[in-house]
Amino acid sequence: MPAPTTHLMAIPAALVPHIVLPRLELLSEARTRGAECVWGGERLTIETAIDLGKHTDDGFNWFPRACRRCTKAAVRAARDAHPGRCTECRGPADLCDARCALHDLLLELRR
Ligand SMILES: [Zn+2]
Ligand SMILES: [Zn+2]
Repeated sequence: MPAPTTHLMAIPAALVPHIVLPRLELLSEARTRGAECVWGGERLTIETAIDLGKHTDDGFNWFPRACRRCTKAAVRAARDAHPGRCTECRGPADLCDARCALHDLLLELRR
């Protein structure tokens, strides 16, 4: 057996709802089943794929995955857009747990 990979990563379940995905009906079959990056269409391997959690649209369950570069961009966008629509964030000096978690996730993706 090969050694377990240390690169496999998943977006924490609590943060999945913050990440904006492309609309399901616009995606190819390969992207909906996680064979290709849901944003950029890059071919994914077990070493490069980042798990974006389970999503349900009209009763259809799908499990998108993405490459690190696109995930980083999506997490950055989620982090930057967050305080404007969050009722718990009270300004730059008093950000909620979700906002802090998004920031930590972004730092982790930069490694
Ligand atoms: Zn990508
Ligand atoms: Zn917030």
